[in-house]
Amino acid sequence: MSTRVTHWIDGRLWQGTPERSGDVYDPATGKVTKTVDFASRDVLDDAVAVAKAAFPAWRDASLTRRAQVLFAFRELLNANKEKVAALITEEHGKVLSDALGEVTRGLEVVEFACGIPHLLKGGFSEGVSTGVDVYSIRQPLGVVGIISPFNFPAMVPMWFFPIAIAAGNTVVVKPSEKDPSAVMYLAELWQQAGLPDGVFNVVHGDKEAVDGLLENKDVKSISFVGSTPIARYIYETGTRNGKRVQALGGAKNHMLVLPDADLDLAADQAVNAGFGSAGERCMAISVVLAVDPIGDELVAKIAERMPSLKVGDGRRACDMGPLVTGVHRDKVRSYVDAGEASGASLVVDGRIGEVDGDPNGFWLLPTLFDHVTTDMSIYSDEIFGPVLSVVRVPSFEAGVEVINAHPYGNGTAIFTNDGGAARRFQNEIEVGMIGVNVPIPVPMAYYSFGGWKASLFGDSHAHGAEGVHFFTRGKVVTSRWLDPSHGGINLGFPTQS
Ligand code: NAD
Repeated sequence: MSTRVTHWIDGRLWQGTPERSGDVYDPATGKVTKTVDFASRDVLDDAVAVAKAAFPAWRDASLTRRAQVLFAFRELLNANKEKVAALITEEHGKVLSDALGEVTRGLEVVEFACGIPHLLKGGFSEGVSTGVDVYSIRQPLGVVGIISPFNFPAMVPMWFFPIAIAAGNTVVVKPSEKDPSAVMYLAELWQQAGLPDGVFNVVHGDKEAVDGLLENKDVKSISFVGSTPIARYIYETGTRNGKRVQALGGAKNHMLVLPDADLDLAADQAVNAGFGSAGERCMAISVVLAVDPIGDELVAKIAERMPSLKVGDGRRACDMGPLVTGVHRDKVRSYVDAGEASGASLVVDGRIGEVDGDPNGFWLLPTLFDHVTTDMSIYSDEIFGPVLSVVRVPSFEAGVEVINAHPYGNGTAIFTNDGGAARRFQNEIEVGMIGVNVPIPVPMAYYSFGGWKASLFGDSHAHGAEGVHFFTRGKVVTSRWLDPSHGGINLGFPTQS
């Protein structure tokens, strides 16, 4: 019998009967293990109404009180991170160590948000005019909506909600319907941490729930992470409805390897960043640009490392788990077929090989293509699976040109021992996050995460200073406390005197 996952509204599980629901799989066995309720518009609107009602008291809770709740949540999350990781592995399929890494990166944002009293400090100018002071404050928005993708069911929501809550907002999260349980557990931890009911709500579902968030006038902002077509839709619809929107989209991340690079390091990192989490990371490397004449040597080094990767059930001692669903596995597999048909050299074929897991799991093994060209779909499209393509380029300049011509601009990396080349790369490349001899350059919580071009719609990146800015709005107060010498009537425009 499958378990039912339902909404978390006002500090308790929703008691209604859903009109629609979806299946949740264990990707390592291919079995349906849970069903998840899909919210109707009425359920979504109820959750927003609850969050709206909780807002005034939470906004007015002192900074000390809000920071105390954040610290308590941090302790609870740290103490229970293995449980969160296990929930992620059960529904997403990534191996436990990787799931734990995801929780740790989310924890870092919670730790950043614990500093909210400092982060919300404004400016103060005494005596801007005679007897007049000016100061700035930042205030929460109200109810904020968060919509997250399947690939980081805990970390991506935690890019946003710790800061949103610390800043005094109330939250409605719509997690991916493919792996909804991790956020449900986080909701329980918030309650144990002392967060008032109604501040953090979780509503499950699909487009209907998302459209409800986009259209409800009491939702003041949307933080979205997912594929580019949906991100574009979210941005256009949300802003048309007067909301503040940050919509992070898809990616195609290139790794440029110069002839002077340490090729063993580059090969190790191409394998790690290409096949970790089965390539289902928005910061995965999916294209290696090998600058002449190192192509043959680099491809050989990558290929010789791949047989040692153990693919299997993420609860066992494996390096890589299954893909998230059978439908997604079939889509990724169809790209391998397409790459072969388009004439790329299939160096390692992931459609065949051994796995340490149930034969009904959603398996596809690491795949390597060489001599890929930019007109092939395996190059142009985001595949989001364990498929790595090597494109040969004649020079540094040609590599930069290829990267800049791609519509996505999430992350990229250069491997070289030439500091001047690395510096020129960081200057000329049109991508939001850059690694120098680092393949997955995910910024720490106190910097901001986000791509350029079709990888992000909106002005604000996630977390760090931009996150604090996104979840607050500024006010500037000009004040004068009268003394007996006030100057009388003057209809001129106020200037300093
Ligand atoms: P997705 O776009 O299918 O879904 C993301 C969210 O949107 C989910 O909550 C889903 O329920 C909802 N959704 C799906 N279809 C919708 C529709 N028609 N209308 C409204 N809402 C809809 O993405 P996914 O498959 O869950 O996640 C993988 C994608 O996310 C990849 O493209 C990956 O690159 C991207 N991603 C990007 C980043 C980043 O930081 N840029 C981070 C993680 C994932």
